[in-house]
Amino acid sequence: MPLVPLRPLLEASYRYGFAHGAFNVNTVAQADAVIEIHETFRSAAILQGADLANAFMGGRADFMNGTVEDKRIGAKRIMDAVQSVSENSPIPIVMHLDHGKDVESIKAAIEGGYTSVMVDGSSLSFDDNVELTREIVKYAHERGVTVEGELGILAGVEDDVFSEESTYTNPMKVCEFFRKTGVDCLAISYGTKHGAVKGKNVKLRKEIAIAAMENLKHEGIFGVLVSHGSSTVPQYMVEEINAMGGQISNAHGVPISELKQVIPCGIGKINVDTDIRLSVTRYVRELFVKNPSLKESKSIGGVWELMESKADQFDPRVYLPPVMESLIVRKEITDIDLLKLVDCIKRGVHEAVGTLIVEFGSAGYAPKIEPVTLEEMADRYRKAGI
Ligand SMILES: [Zn+2]
Repeated sequence: MPLVPLRPLLEASYRYGFAHGAFNVNTVAQADAVIEIHETFRSAAILQGADLANAFMGGRADFMNGTVEDKRIGAKRIMDAVQSVSENSPIPIVMHLDHGKDVESIKAAIEGGYTSVMVDGSSLSFDDNVELTREIVKYAHERGVTVEGELGILAGVEDDVFSEESTYTNPMKVCEFFRKTGVDCLAISYGTKHGAVKGKNVKLRKEIAIAAMENLKHEGIFGVLVSHGSSTVPQYMVEEINAMGGQISNAHGVPISELKQVIPCGIGKINVDTDIRLSVTRYVRELFVKNPSLKESKSIGGVWELMESKADQFDPRVYLPPVMESLIVRKEITDIDLLKLVDCIKRGVHEAVGTLIVEFGSAGYAPKIEPVTLEEMADRYRKAGI
């Protein structure tokens, strides 16, 4: 089926009390694997493209310095890859822009085919955040596209999303934000943190979600809360990577038990990036350790070289540049060594994402999600006056 907006997924999670994971992708193989594993578990899928991920897909190994043009090319590549798979997939698939910062880049994403966008005005004053978000909502809803806002500031680092300290979301303000902007869902700050260094024993302030949802219900406003910075950082993955020569230290995530507690409190979308990076790194490292001759491979030997020289890192974008040309556009791969590497990327995604589909409770719910089109959704917003 064609890509769907996020809204019907939010409505299902609200109604049935589960959460959808939302997974960042940087290569065609990752996008394919995220969709495959959701099909296996009959869950709807949310794929996320972040600004800098789009730069990487645009062909920039130094993605931190990507230009708007690189990002545009990258966004189109990921859209092409996802759309072609979506057409033949039995599950609803959403393509969501993660951390859209300004009007121009968000509109470009919508024009490129994204069916859901996040507008991150969290660093602005409340009034300025409302104004920016409202402008995006108007533009997006006219086209049936879902909008996620953000209120409160998260600590940590996620690509260029950086903040020194966490300022929790004021639940009293949540209602006003929904009413004034018309957003469909809202990222809150309640104890999660971007990146892999979240500290040991993270505790989430679920009272913030509970209070916000109670206020919304009293006012008769539909809204779903979103949890950013929610990777679980499975310790067995870190240990296995380090046992094979990796040097990752201090990596801790949000315990899965904490996340499962907040899902019934109104958290319906949970963003995960680090777990996939770790899982892919584990498989790729294992490939080289178990098959030492591949370290000399003409096609993928360069990957091992980078991986070894940066053993403390686990972002695949750090060690994939030698083969990136084959990973950012959909084309048939015939090189046997490269096929093995792609297989590792996919296995890594399957393991990390499959676990979370089950834990978050979205398995089996795909048939319960209304396959609404963007046009139908735009019509609904128009009639409801939002
Ligand atoms: Zn985020």
